[in-house]
Amino acid sequence: MVFLWLGTGLQSVALAQGRPSLGRTDRLMEMAKTSIANSEYEKANYYFRQIIESSASIPPEMPYYFAETLYELKQYDNSSKFLSKYLEINGFKAENYEAAKALENKLKAPLEAIASCKLCDTKGYRYQACPTCHGKKVIEQDCSLCKGRGIVGCSRCKATGIVTKKNVFNITEYYQCTRCKGEGRLTCPRCDGSLKEVSACHTCSGFGEVHSEELCDHQEHHEHTTAEPEVH
Ligand SMILES: [Zn+2]
Ligand SMILES: [Zn+2]
Ligand SMILES: [Zn+2]
Ligand SMILES: [Zn+2]
Repeated sequence: MVFLWLGTGLQSVALAQGRPSLGRTDRLMEMAKTSIANSEYEKANYYFRQIIESSASIPPEMPYYFAETLYELKQYDNSSKFLSKYLEINGFKAENYEAAKALENKLKAPLEAIASCKLCDTKGYRYQACPTCHGKKVIEQDCSLCKGRGIVGCSRCKATGIVTKKNVFNITEYYQCTRCKGEGRLTCPRCDGSLKEVSACHTCSGFGEVHSEELCDHQEHHEHTTAEPEVH
């Protein structure tokens, strides 16, 4: 009854699911805003994610506060996405319109730094050498065709070294297989007898680098570069 004046479709859904979901979202919003006021952005991030993961409708000012939090956590790409969503939904009538525009300006420099940096991905997370191929993009493994034996059975003579042919009198004649010269086996065509096969690394899909959890400072760190000689 108390919520009937809210009127919109989404809130009706929340009402149908019972009041606790609305109350819970409000409570999480309050806790998140208190955390922001105390500069506890990790905490605020946690509360906002609880709101997103719940099925309740998202409070209209939430994307702004979440964008502010993500900015402080240096998740600039994510921050920018929530900020755009906020401005798109609420427009210039938004309660935090001025602050949102200011945040949009503050985001420009870090977003440009990410875009022009080759050491990090589009979200600003640093690339690191692939732990499987150590940046070599390929891995060497036992040849899968010859299973590391270096030879394969000759397919023309079915590994017997002999081929048969019927002559004009319909009598079977036996010949030495010309393909394997009667050996019945051939040097493995895939590894050419080296027993090893080189293929694109599965871990990094042949890219040589993987994403890390580390936010990039856009500076070369010489002790971590992929050019480091591999000694193993
Ligand atoms: Zn790799
Ligand atoms: Zn043969
Ligand atoms: Zn082979
Ligand atoms: Zn970077």
